[in-house]
Amino acid sequence: MEYAIGCDVGGTFVKMGVVLADGAVTARDMVPLPPLTSPGYLASWLAGALTAFQEKNAPDGTPPKGVGIGIPGPVRFPDGTLFDPPNLPFSGEIPLGKLLRGLLPVPVTIDNDATVQTIGEAWVGQGKGVKNFIYLALGTGIGGGIVTDGAITRGALGMAGEIGHLTIDWHGRPCRCGSRGCLETYASINGIANSLREMGPSLPADIRESLENGAWSGLPGLLKERLDQGETRWQKVWDIFADALGAGMGSLINLFNPEKIIISGGLSYHSPLFLSRAVETSRRYCFRRPAASCDIVTSRLKDNAGIIGAARMAFLSTGNTP
Ligand SMILES: [Zn+2]
Repeated sequence: MEYAIGCDVGGTFVKMGVVLADGAVTARDMVPLPPLTSPGYLASWLAGALTAFQEKNAPDGTPPKGVGIGIPGPVRFPDGTLFDPPNLPFSGEIPLGKLLRGLLPVPVTIDNDATVQTIGEAWVGQGKGVKNFIYLALGTGIGGGIVTDGAITRGALGMAGEIGHLTIDWHGRPCRCGSRGCLETYASINGIANSLREMGPSLPADIRESLENGAWSGLPGLLKERLDQGETRWQKVWDIFADALGAGMGSLINLFNPEKIIISGGLSYHSPLFLSRAVETSRRYCFRRPAASCDIVTSRLKDNAGIIGAARMAFLSTGNTP
């Protein structure tokens, strides 16, 4: 049976899946990423984890068509070189593709995690059959992907699609990328933390503690709980989020005239708190006609998009068509 292995490398966990030629995921595993001491160690650890996963889950004991990997940070495609990955403890040019090709007996394709998720959406998700769409993964930061005329947009170095760093306010909040006013300083978990900090010293103890400990991933849940209890003042945080997201989507609609914008990532589970306002806002920041023909929807693949898209790259091996 023909299959590929899709691998989605996150900041703390690595997800792997067996994906068949129709996009079905027949086995899945998630393992914690160990402390990484060097690029060589990352490559050998990944090769070991992928080999163990394959030996346990391969249909009929056959080798896969290939291995596809999505990883955070700028990746040059198709050779799979990483440049200063912000979530890994080393910098500079990391030839992960070359290292892994020396360790695994099957073809290896590597690209940026959001690009890979976009390919997954295009294959079997909300982007299926859609020639022009934008993918937005709202999490700690924002991952982005652009499909134009049926092909993923990678740019000259393969680094296009950094929608999280679209400038929303050029005098705005400082961003970890060194710029200012980027979309993700408002419409992400980092953005929620920024908005809460700006609310000043009157924050309740649990929210203040989460902010100070860096446990920001719990903040959206804490805000939702308080809103459910009738504390309406916390809606302001989601309104700032929604307005920034809406302004960003307005620019994207004007730039790319997409048929769809697909909202994914952990924060998409909270879409009832921000999406309708974001859609309304987006209409004020773009031309009426392309806005009217753009559907803004949430992903149905959830956190399988990365595994599925990575496997799709492995099936195609060139990866240029989603
Ligand atoms: Zn930025």
